[in-house]
Amino acid sequence: MAETTLRSVADLVAQGLVREEETTRLNAVAERYAIALTPTVRALIDPTDPHDPIAAQYIPSAAELVDHPAERLDPIGDHPHSPVEGIVHRYPDRVLLKLVHVCPVYCRFCFRREMVGPQGDGSLTGERLETALDYIAANTGIWEVILTGGDPLILSPRRLRDVSERLAAMDHVRVLRIHTRVPAVDPERITAEMVEALTLSGKSVILALHANHPRELTPEVRAACRRLSAGGVQLVSQSVLLKGVNDDADTLTALMRGFVETGVKPYYLHHPDMAPGTGHFRLSVAEGQALMRELRTRISGICIPHYILDLPGGHGKVALGEDAVRDLGDGRYAVRDRNGQEHLYP
Ligand SMILES: *Cc1c(COP(=O)(O)O)cnc(C)c1O
Ligand code: SF4
Repeated sequence: MAETTLRSVADLVAQGLVREEETTRLNAVAERYAIALTPTVRALIDPTDPHDPIAAQYIPSAAELVDHPAERLDPIGDHPHSPVEGIVHRYPDRVLLKLVHVCPVYCRFCFRREMVGPQGDGSLTGERLETALDYIAANTGIWEVILTGGDPLILSPRRLRDVSERLAAMDHVRVLRIHTRVPAVDPERITAEMVEALTLSGKSVILALHANHPRELTPEVRAACRRLSAGGVQLVSQSVLLKGVNDDADTLTALMRGFVETGVKPYYLHHPDMAPGTGHFRLSVAEGQALMRELRTRISGICIPHYILDLPGGHGKVALGEDAVRDLGDGRYAVRDRNGQEHLYP
């Protein structure tokens, strides 16, 4: 089994994860979109299963060379909302702070795939980091800073500590949120030093854990989550609804229950974004809504995430949970219950 991160098609061939005949085609994919599988992820893949839901998330496929006309290089419109490098400020009270453009793994469905990877637009250090932090300090309407990227937890605890210390001095910033896949794909990175670096600002700290399949929540991953919770970090989940990975009610039930059992409150289930070469992962909004209806009949309300579409072109996120209420116009409403039956209210 692999001891280090797999980063090339040749590595994947050597591990028996792709067939040698596929090398040329997959190298063409790798030229556009980086490859990385950590040893944790590698160990979860069953190479004998051609439909393995872990493999589907990380092993390149020739389908990625197929672009769909509706796909965009900047699928959720980050660029127009970026006042200074490293900041995306779309909603008044919160900003994204992108410290790095690299990740411990590269997900084949990534919505920022044109911006992440070793060839991306540089990690934010020195003057450029100062300018971004100055922007947050000067805009006192910013209540929450969201570290994203790339994956911020690929940084050393020392560098995260520096950012935490700078934010600690900004009174108007009350919440630090970190969007990351690290606890799931490299749980050993969650050391006591890392937890301290994240929490030392004294702000409320929320970690949004990205995982898409219940098999990703291994005992080691659950232990990493426990270390974060014990250190005072609140945990929420984010997942992407992906064809061939988690697009059935049994898998979503196990995933959402797995999160809650691990102390992670399900937060977002994203409809896949219009990122280039990701058409093979997309399902329809109607299929997603049917899955959400099914989940609501099956599992505890605490296990239900918001089903979210990030509108292309920078129009922001919209909850796709179907409208349960119809205004009848006479002071009364028709309200649909979990089984789809309408009831008059009042
Ligand atoms: C998604 C996103 C956020 C966070 O949105 P929440 O709904 O608060 O999770 C903030 N800023 C930008 C630019 C985003 O795309
Ligand atoms: S970890 Fe996140 S940013 Fe990095 S490739 Fe995966 S989805 Fe994209």
